[in-house]
Amino acid sequence: MLIKTTGFSASMPFYLDYMIHIRNRQEIEIIRRNALMVTATLTEVAKAIRPGITTKALDTLAETFIRDHGGIPSFKGYGPPHSPFPASLCISVNEQVVHGFPGNYEIKDGDIVSVDCGFYKDGYHGDHAYTFAVGNVSPEILQLMRITKESLMLGIVQAKEKNRVGDISYAIEYHTAKLHGYGVVRELVGHGVGKNLHEDPQVPNYGRRGEGKRLKEGMVLAIEPMINLGTHRVYTLEDGWTIVTADGKPSVHYEHTTLVGKLRGEALSSFDPIEAAERQNPELNTGHLISAAPTANNA
Ligand code: MG
Ligand code: MG
Repeated sequence: MLIKTTGFSASMPFYLDYMIHIRNRQEIEIIRRNALMVTATLTEVAKAIRPGITTKALDTLAETFIRDHGGIPSFKGYGPPHSPFPASLCISVNEQVVHGFPGNYEIKDGDIVSVDCGFYKDGYHGDHAYTFAVGNVSPEILQLMRITKESLMLGIVQAKEKNRVGDISYAIEYHTAKLHGYGVVRELVGHGVGKNLHEDPQVPNYGRRGEGKRLKEGMVLAIEPMINLGTHRVYTLEDGWTIVTADGKPSVHYEHTTLVGKLRGEALSSFDPIEAAERQNPELNTGHLISAAPTANNA
């Protein structure tokens, strides 16, 4: 089941389903609801995150929230039987790219914290991730966050009928690596999502326009740029899961469950409630948020 045959690993490294599915309206609405439950879970994390809180406490909060809403955490127990992922959230701090284990680590002022979460209910998964900045984070890291989030949005625009996977990949790579010189992680990729957490097609964050599998309206993809301030190179820690940058520089991760549309893609998960909670939490640095559109009051 390891997808080593292709040289890639999904953002969680096991594929169970090599089919590309077109989802009907009813399936799409279940996936949308589950994706928005991940949004709600990440919003709870946005309210709670602060210096001194342990990553384990954030994980407990998230698992309780998911189960209270009738869901199952998609990640808990996922992976090979000899070393299943032990938690409901992946929490990856600073140079950790993805798959960090929640534990006794206490969040510190100056950390960036990537939180990835899945919600499973009624036979389908939602998969969605966000990176938070805690306190004093440098302008160059805040820019890395902003540009990575922008690249996700540009990738989603390309998730449309008749395009190919490479059109999404190219849009992300162009905005991050070509325009800003960031490192695009190559060993981990986005993926189809639905009845299984990871399905085909793989959605790399680098590639060429017009290449790869053809997109069809009704496909659901997890698009998830994992972008490094420095080198694109990464390695896996001895725990067998946690991926870190080779140069120790920070890495950022944003992800939306995305519906392929006729004219453009549509994010089924949403950053809006998470960003609203960020703005309300004085411990978080919102310097990476694109400022709100002018209103009658501040124009
Ligand atoms: Mg994913
Ligand atoms: Mg994810």
